[in-house]
Amino acid sequence: MLKELTIEDLRTSLRGQIISRDDEGYEEARQVYNGMINKKPTLIVRCVDVADVISAVNYARQSGLTLAVRGGGHNGGGLGICDDGLVIDLSGMKGVRVDPAARTARVAGGCTWGEVDHATHAFGLATPSGIISTTGVGGLTLGGGIGHLTRKCGLTIDSLLEVDMVLADGRFVTANETENSDLFWAVRGGGGNFGVVTSFQFKLHPISTIIGGPTLWELDQTEAVLTWYRDFIVQAPEDLNGFFAFLIVPPGPPFPEHLHLKKMCGCVWCYAGPADQAEDVFAPIRDFGPPALYGIQEMPHPALQSAFDALYPPGLQWYWRADFVNELSDEAIAQHVNHGSQIPTMHSTMHLYPIDGATHRVGKDETAFSYRDTIWAEVIVGVDPDPANAEAIKKWTIDYWEALHPYSAGGAYVNFMMDEGQERVKATYRDNYERLAIIKQKYDPDNLFHVNQNIKPATY
Ligand SMILES: Cc1cc2nc3c(=O)[nH]c(=O)nc-3n(C[C@H](O)[C@H](O)[C@H](O)COP(=O)(O)OP(=O)(O)OC[C@H]3O[C@@H](n4cnc5c(N)ncnc54)[C@H](O)[C@@H]3O)c2cc1C
Repeated sequence: MLKELTIEDLRTSLRGQIISRDDEGYEEARQVYNGMINKKPTLIVRCVDVADVISAVNYARQSGLTLAVRGGGHNGGGLGICDDGLVIDLSGMKGVRVDPAARTARVAGGCTWGEVDHATHAFGLATPSGIISTTGVGGLTLGGGIGHLTRKCGLTIDSLLEVDMVLADGRFVTANETENSDLFWAVRGGGGNFGVVTSFQFKLHPISTIIGGPTLWELDQTEAVLTWYRDFIVQAPEDLNGFFAFLIVPPGPPFPEHLHLKKMCGCVWCYAGPADQAEDVFAPIRDFGPPALYGIQEMPHPALQSAFDALYPPGLQWYWRADFVNELSDEAIAQHVNHGSQIPTMHSTMHLYPIDGATHRVGKDETAFSYRDTIWAEVIVGVDPDPANAEAIKKWTIDYWEALHPYSAGGAYVNFMMDEGQERVKATYRDNYERLAIIKQKYDPDNLFHVNQNIKPATY
């Protein structure tokens, strides 16, 4: 029998720090990105290495405390933290090692995407991620990963080569296509259900500068823009990515003053193909409308990756709803026009991210991410700094989502969901759910890792 671990055993086994309720710094340590989340864990363990993670997992399992794992802390539903439990905080586990010859990067489990982009860009290389560089590599990757390079390179998990993990029983394993391949299949979309990923290895792509930025149109052109966009994007070259958005134009540069605080619709483009073909690729976009703002320019890839960071600092109130979308019918567009035009606050938005192109070349049972055959990941987010507006942004988001959900494909991208229950999780994994439940039973039979979009261990 293993000796029961005490909190003192945990403390002496760590290089990192334990922060408990009475400690200075607790209030700061328990904050996550979404200001709507207000959870109070018993212990926060700031791990600095794999050994710390093993100790913290063993302690959580033996003490029976609820366990949450925090990567970048961005999750909409606050799944990187919990009430009255133990949080493994990976934010102290940093480091990106680029191998420029092999075109790979080894990324520590607590990195953010800005850190990865910074390290890889020095070598003219990049891997696909999301659109805000302060997001954690951990949560974004394990859920799938959708961003500016999705049509060209696929999801983030399609560039994932290997993970190192600490399992529920404290064992340390590596998972890739040949070693623990069932686990590697499951972590590519199955979220944090299977253990703590202490390091990721990614394939890198020769992408250094891109040509991109926003094009904005008047709100009363929305119907025409969306009708054009739905047909344009699916036949555009895969080197071009472009997501549709409703927005209230931020009152500052680079936006011209006459557009400040105006409700508009637009697209954010990223072209990562041959520069001499860019003129032709952008011609239909420039000519359509034409846009009230044409903000396309050449820039380093990390500049686009971090372009929205300042607009979305930590601590804003966020309410999320999402769906996958196969088809944008005229009826769905009419609902978008109706609800998008009622966008309640400057930070609120609706995005339609294309996930066709390279994403479709991976089969829906090749990784846990099932919706390989859909065209868009739709996300509606009510966002505002003022907690007094929480109910208003929530209402707009839910009303909008309920109007559009009948036109959706069924499930939603797990990283765009809050706490919507088991049926929604199952709807998202579709036929892959059963296989995920069997793998969960093998690696985490007691569901130690349940603060996530949870996959229940299979019962026989
Ligand atoms: C402003 C903003 C913009 C976003 N943009 C995009 C986007 O463009 N594309 C996109 O795909 N998503 C995007 N997202 C969603 C994002 O992918 C999710 O919020 C994701 O969960 C964030 O990961 P994190 O590590 O920062 O979060 P956390 O809250 O730390 O963790 C989220 C979940 O992942 C688990 N987890 C995190 N790290 C690990 C690890 N190392 N090992 C095991 N489990 C782990 C946690 O336990 C938790 O269940 C965005 C979110 C925000 C707030």
